[in-house]
Amino acid sequence: MKIICVGRNYNDHIKELKNQKPQSPVLFIKPDTSLCQPNLPFYIPNFTNDVQYEAEVIILINRIGKHIQTKFAHKYYDKVSLGIDFTARDLQNELKSKGLPWEKSKSFDGSALIGKWYSKEIFLDINNTPFKLLKNNRLVQKSNTSSMIWSVDELISYASKFFTLKIGDIIFTGTPSGVGTLKKEDDFQGFIGEKIALTFKVK
Ligand code: MG
Repeated sequence: MKIICVGRNYNDHIKELKNQKPQSPVLFIKPDTSLCQPNLPFYIPNFTNDVQYEAEVIILINRIGKHIQTKFAHKYYDKVSLGIDFTARDLQNELKSKGLPWEKSKSFDGSALIGKWYSKEIFLDINNTPFKLLKNNRLVQKSNTSSMIWSVDELISYASKFFTLKIGDIIFTGTPSGVGTLKKEDDFQGFIGEKIALTFKVK
């Protein structure tokens, strides 16, 4: 399986990182080795001094597809959750400044935390669903999928022009503002709608 990630899909986060608003979705991929073991702590890797959390709504692909039209994209997923796109920001900034690919900073082992899957049917409208991340019981990220520049269905359609979607693939739909640095002993809880999707501790 592969994880397709979307960068710069919320205006407030684009401003926060002083990035340019893109003309089309920014995509990158994490390999299966980036998956974190659920219920284990996140261990800060030794090649970064600034690993950051990015909470994102994630979807699980349930059909194979290529060149999917936006109007049919909803047929390609029925489970949603919250995930964390762990990012070695110092390394990413260095790579970005040199015009180099981001993979070392975004796709390292353990860089993708996948929350508990929920049927999308339990949410009234997945394109208008709130989500939030708490750090040490304080709210750090809070948004709604309605604030995405490109909707889930538009992202599926766009990504499938380049990458065949396969059963079990996951799409990370982008992070809102409020990203920040992880410190040892931090405790996180993530929610989609009213449902708890993930918890993790940093070591
Ligand atoms: Mg991200």
